[in-house]
Amino acid sequence: MVENLEDVGFNIPDGLLDEIQQNIQNIIRDFDVPEENKIEVIKQINYIYTRTKYLSITDELTGLSNRRCFDATFEKEFLRASRYKNKLTLVMFDIDYFKSVNDTYGHQCGDYILKQISNAALQTFRKTDTVFRYGGEEFVVILTETDINQAIIPLERFRKTVQTLALNYQGQDVNVTVSIGACQLTSDMSSKEDFLQKTDEALYEAKNSGRNKTVLSNG
Ligand code: GH3
Ligand code: MG
Ligand code: MG
Repeated sequence: MVENLEDVGFNIPDGLLDEIQQNIQNIIRDFDVPEENKIEVIKQINYIYTRTKYLSITDELTGLSNRRCFDATFEKEFLRASRYKNKLTLVMFDIDYFKSVNDTYGHQCGDYILKQISNAALQTFRKTDTVFRYGGEEFVVILTETDINQAIIPLERFRKTVQTLALNYQGQDVNVTVSIGACQLTSDMSSKEDFLQKTDEALYEAKNSGRNKTVLSNG
């Protein structure tokens, strides 16, 4: 038995949901739904289908694209950039000392901060760059057509924006910072896992060298 949609989604090949929807529509057309109700039934199924599809790629708390969406998007962008020798920069950022924010101000406050930082990221990066919640208090951004030298400007802008966000939860001021690691795609990267690993190493270095920092890697 299937326990949750997340588990199923990873195994649904591209296009299968669309095929299922088409099949349902065909069945309704061909069988015993009264003529006058057909449009309404199709509308309802369309709504459920669209909503399910949206939920399957969206992080509920922040409204950002979720990990599953990242996996699919990253694979596409990695293949495209490798093939056409396009510039591509991958970014990972993580909230500093977030556990102590939860411990000091409570989990609800932590959730509020996750939402505020997500909004700040959405406002900082271009529409063509997608921000994903990778998990917990860790996020990734795919910067298309961007090398590491071009990435530094928006990344530093974002880091400073977070540092100066006027966060206030139930009357309490809360200050948070983020550590950022970024890596550009190079021709000698053998796989997207390799690319992700190098980006993760940059983030690790940002953490280890004091936090509230951006560390850039040439790959
Ligand atoms: P570091 O600077 O090394 O990143 O330290 P940290 O405390 O941020 O890292 P750590 O991995 O120790 O703790 C991450 C915390 O993030 C612990 C976990 O409870 C919290 N967290 C993860 N997801 C959520 C969430 O959805 N809501 C809230 N409120 N907290 C979350
Ligand atoms: Mg953290
Ligand atoms: Mg973390």
